Amino acid sequence: MIPRLSLIERDRAAIWHPYTQAHTASSPIPIISGKGSYLFDEQGKRYIDAISSWWVTLHGHAHPYIAEQVGRQFDKLEQVIFAGFTHLPAIELAERLLKILPVGQDKIFYSDNGSTAVEVALKMCLQYWYNKGAPRKKILAFEHGYHGDTFGAMAVSGRSAWTAPFSSLLFDVLYIPVPTLENIEATKLVIKQHCQDIACFIFEPLVQGSAGMLMHSVVQLDELLVHCRNCDILLIQDEVFTGFGRTGKIFAADHLVTKPDLVCLSKGLTGGTMPFGITSCCNQIYEAFLSEDLYKTLFHGHSFTANPLACVAALASLDLLETKYTQDNIGRIDAQHKGFSAEMSDEKKILNIRQCGTILAFDWYDGSHPSYFSALRNKLYHYFLDRGILLRPLGNTLYLVPPYCTSEEDLNYIYGTIKVALTDL
Ligand SMILES: *Cc1c(COP(=O)(O)O)cnc(C)c1O
Repeated sequence: MIPRLSLIERDRAAIWHPYTQAHTASSPIPIISGKGSYLFDEQGKRYIDAISSWWVTLHGHAHPYIAEQVGRQFDKLEQVIFAGFTHLPAIELAERLLKILPVGQDKIFYSDNGSTAVEVALKMCLQYWYNKGAPRKKILAFEHGYHGDTFGAMAVSGRSAWTAPFSSLLFDVLYIPVPTLENIEATKLVIKQHCQDIACFIFEPLVQGSAGMLMHSVVQLDELLVHCRNCDILLIQDEVFTGFGRTGKIFAADHLVTKPDLVCLSKGLTGGTMPFGITSCCNQIYEAFLSEDLYKTLFHGHSFTANPLACVAALASLDLLETKYTQDNIGRIDAQHKGFSAEMSDEKKILNIRQCGTILAFDWYDGSHPSYFSALRNKLYHYFLDRGILLRPLGNTLYLVPPYCTSEEDLNYIYGTIKVALTDL
């Protein structure tokens, strides 16, 4: 008899998971199905997905409307080469996005995920200057930023333990702190000194997700962007996380006066149902690539560029995002987060409680040194899992990024569980 192995045993034998450390590796939880804001494991145990499965799920899992639209498309056309060919879902999605993206976005370039959306944006900017015959090689970026795990995206992210093994191979990046009233003049001076060399500024607007949901001011970011524009630095707004309602508006750009030259989208783009990425740009950039000279072509294209199923999923997700139901839910989650933040303002173990739209975060203070690898992090992770809530702290930072369909009761249950945890842990 061949012994029947459990899913966990089979997983262990064959799979290398991301972000898994040997000494803390606890068994992954096999998930069998999802419905709305819930995930169900093998035993039928229910988890509230309070982090939208790594910040992607907008309308809930296995949404019937998205499933239906994607299913119909599958029957018609599941994939076609996008060099020399085109299709209706790609055209419709591009037209629709250009209507809602910040003013000045004129062209849509398709890829597969957030990191590739960033790679494409960087290549567009670097080659823009190359094509103009005035090459620039420095990139401006925020300290502690995160733009993905592929080489270029990693190079423009903050340097850390993650990037250490590759440090000698990474780009020439000029790091600046996120702007505050106190530091902005000094930062502007540094940028001015290097501006002839800087091809572009890549930034996460308003919220730095992976850094620990750090938030900065709209007013100072706007001031910084104006300064960069005056220095002729192209602006890449990485909305991979903040896009599609997370900050309370469709894009974080909608809070800002200064509009970017390029925008990166992924995560919530398909409602979190499929890998997909988009880099949009203004005509000024596109036109620098229109030439009789073959060497001025953007030689970049992924096998699954503009996959029709992903395009249809994105169109369906936009339909849902624009409904009153979803917009009301985004407003409700924002209001509930504000209520909880106010309630927690005097709590000694909760530091720096911060909120932007549907994103809520705070630092858990237990006297220990805060670190991504802290014991507290693992304790919190398992505490909430045991109580049917998927929260995945970044070090001692606990955050909520729920799907918009998360009910008022479920959110209250999560807040309530946090309150109990404050006395338990
Ligand atoms: C997640 C993320 C990325 C990378 O996206 P992937 O699809 O994981 O490659 C890039 N930028 C930001 C701001 C992100 O949060």
